[in-house]
Amino acid sequence: MIITLQNQVSNEARNQLEALLGQVTGNLKRTVSTMMDEREVIVLDGSRLDKQALATISQQDAVERVVEVKTQYQLVSRAFKDERSRIEIGDAENGQPIIIGGSNATPVVIAGPCAVEGREQLLSTATAVKAAGAQILRGGAFKPRTSPYQFQGLGIEGLHYLKEARELTGLPVITEVMEPEMVEVVAEYANILQIGSRNMQNFPLLYAAGRNSFHRPVMLKRGLSATIEEWLLAAEYIVSAGNPYVILCERGIRSFDTQTRNLLDLSCVPLLHELTHLPVVVDPSHGTGRRELVPTMSRAGIAAGADGLILEVHPDPNSALCDGRQSITPDQLKSVVREAQLMNTLMERVAEHTHVA
Ligand code: PEP
Ligand code: MN
Repeated sequence: MIITLQNQVSNEARNQLEALLGQVTGNLKRTVSTMMDEREVIVLDGSRLDKQALATISQQDAVERVVEVKTQYQLVSRAFKDERSRIEIGDAENGQPIIIGGSNATPVVIAGPCAVEGREQLLSTATAVKAAGAQILRGGAFKPRTSPYQFQGLGIEGLHYLKEARELTGLPVITEVMEPEMVEVVAEYANILQIGSRNMQNFPLLYAAGRNSFHRPVMLKRGLSATIEEWLLAAEYIVSAGNPYVILCERGIRSFDTQTRNLLDLSCVPLLHELTHLPVVVDPSHGTGRRELVPTMSRAGIAAGADGLILEVHPDPNSALCDGRQSITPDQLKSVVREAQLMNTLMERVAEHTHVA
């Protein structure tokens, strides 16, 4: 249940509301108070409240409206906010902000190496990514690797190169943060914080990203075998901690088949647009694990309604320190960007047609 408070609330009215909520919810349930679209909201699990309690809450002086949300995830649900969220990336320094999400934004392309391997590799890839028409640069400085003996990323040094790449190309950057204590440091450098699949349910990390003092948007990747509900509840942690700027990223889930690295669940894209107002980005690189499948699944992602793509690109994929098998070259990226634009134009025509019919 989400209670939106009046714009101006007296202390008396607020205390009265809080006392009432304490009474009806008991001490065991958690009540969260946060800001959403510049309004203060109080969120709680209202599933056990009876009609009488609901009516009493709605009549409080402090209350503007009460929305009963039937799902466990609430602030991220379309039942609460029907209009799709638009997230602005970048700042005035770098010209026009890039928009992810909303009802008629062009899908964005985020591209770059899996890992920042060194200054030259990153700067040359960034230049090529920009020339290919992508709008945001990706690159991991802190890498969550399956084996402790694999390359773990350059850490802070990698963040410096990302900053330099942004200054060189004007592209905003996204990079992964793996631990709560590092959120502020990474947020100082990155325009978007990435929370990886392996950390989708790292709740202290979700809270820290939700509270980052730079107000950086967060791209939350789907857990290796997370249900859509678990994923939306993970997003709810970030939003309820005060950061409404969350982008969901479908990057494939575990399956029994070993032919592809993961199973790219494109059906989740239109489904998520039904369930949540948050933007949805598709990652065909991790979703397939094979570079030859990336162009087709990129087109398919746009056709499914994705608000953007995130792609791994390397100047020499065979020598990449991480995820070379699924990395495309800058030349291939150029075609993917072009095809994504064509696909989007086609999708707009399909939407017009559906509208007319
Ligand atoms: C990545 O984007 O390089 C990455 C590690 O992704 P995921 O968390 O989806 O495995
Ligand atoms: Mn990777």
